[in-house]
Amino acid sequence: MDIKNKDLFRQQSFINGEWVDAINSKTINVNNPATQEIIGNVPNCGKDETISAIRSAKNSWKDWSSKTSKERSNILKKWFNLIEENQEDLARIMTIEQGKPITESRGEITYGASFVEWFAEEGKRVYGDTIPDVFQDRRILVIKQPVGVVAAITPWNFPSSMITRKCAPALAVGCPVVIKPASQTPFSALALGVLAEKAGFPKGTINIITGSAKEIGEELSTNPIVRKLSFTGSTEVGKILLRQCSSTVKKVSMELGGHAPFIAFEDADIDEAVEGAFLSKFRNTGQTCVCSNRLFIHEKIHDEFVEKFTIKVRNMKVGNGLEEGVISGPLIDQFSFRKVEEHVHDAVNVGAKIAIGGKKHKLGGTFYEPTVLFNVTNKARITYEETFGPVAPIYKFNNEDEVINMANDSPYGLASYFYSRDIGKIWRVAEALEYGMVGVNTGIMSKAEAPFGGIKESGLGREGSKYGLDDFLEVKYINIAGI
Ligand code: ADP
Repeated sequence: MDIKNKDLFRQQSFINGEWVDAINSKTINVNNPATQEIIGNVPNCGKDETISAIRSAKNSWKDWSSKTSKERSNILKKWFNLIEENQEDLARIMTIEQGKPITESRGEITYGASFVEWFAEEGKRVYGDTIPDVFQDRRILVIKQPVGVVAAITPWNFPSSMITRKCAPALAVGCPVVIKPASQTPFSALALGVLAEKAGFPKGTINIITGSAKEIGEELSTNPIVRKLSFTGSTEVGKILLRQCSSTVKKVSMELGGHAPFIAFEDADIDEAVEGAFLSKFRNTGQTCVCSNRLFIHEKIHDEFVEKFTIKVRNMKVGNGLEEGVISGPLIDQFSFRKVEEHVHDAVNVGAKIAIGGKKHKLGGTFYEPTVLFNVTNKARITYEETFGPVAPIYKFNNEDEVINMANDSPYGLASYFYSRDIGKIWRVAEALEYGMVGVNTGIMSKAEAPFGGIKESGLGREGSKYGLDDFLEVKYINIAGI
């Protein structure tokens, strides 16, 4: 691994402050999706290692939760500084295991670090309430307390920031964590563990366990010591975890799939809308849950939009994310590649036209040509399913009610975007979209200060912002009588 701080590249799990192998010494290989080369391996842990990680988190609970918020904040700030100082190495590790362009990896490290910085401060503001009682000699108090041991299961598309977005608020309010990173991208998680150890988190407060998703996930979601599970991943796996969490009635946060609509109204600034659609569609090669997956363009600006958007897509450099200038990398694996291929074939079979792309890229492997489809119909699978790849399907519409119905016709409700300069329409449409997040005249909106999350089958709970802190707190009501 070509990085300056070699110590960051760890091939062991982190349990109770120790770097360990699997009990049975088995490992999982990790490959670079751009070259298919094996870059290393990590322990293939299972149930027993998960139990010991949960126990170590529990043992650290008393000490960590009883520290003052300022003491915890100071350690989080050290972690933040170390992440920032090692940005380039962390970004390289990410690109090598995940495939995203190096500029995006650098951006993700900064974005991920921003949650640590923000929650290091916000953790000091866990305020309660006093409420007037109906009896003269009584007082109502409300305090908020940390929920307890937190489990975090994270995906491969944002291997670093999904960890900090969950763990920073949990740790800030006093909860120890057990993290299970995706098996495709464990090295970014383990590198964060190296820096957390250096920052001075007491042993057991942060545990990172690699291995069998099913086995580790089952233990994390059924073990009674775990009081909260925070998951980012597919709706399918989210539903399994929700079922499993019901056995011990855990608090849960679920950041699941999305199928974001992007609408450009007739009064939109077309160039800005093209730029916004491009950014929201092709970031991370289309592999984000907030990527726009259906582009609805008003008939008056449709042809100009398609033309300008296609030119922008034509100029994209596809390749290994480590090469400067690359904007689109490989897909994470063959499974994802096949889904993209199927969605395009199917859309074309039922009437869509290809403006650009539409096939495997000449680089081979899991590279797919950035693709723009227009004339897409309601019969196409892509109209209803999340693609998770570099394919932009464009639909024509001619009135506001029609497009809102089309946009809301989905079981998902994560991100949505629209472009308009009409203030009345902006209010109407923002309120009518059945989505947890609405970007108006922007294609990118995730930030530590704002509540990220979805409605309907896109999830439960919010990450980031003051609302993100509530997800790791329990409300306690205290009634004092005899005053
Ligand atoms: P994606 O479609 O992004 O790969 P997944 O939901 O399959 O999303 O994976 C997201 C995370 O969930 C990963 O860390 C993966 O290892 C984990 N995971 C997958 N299957 C299960 C399962 N049955 N139980 C718990 N975790 C799982």
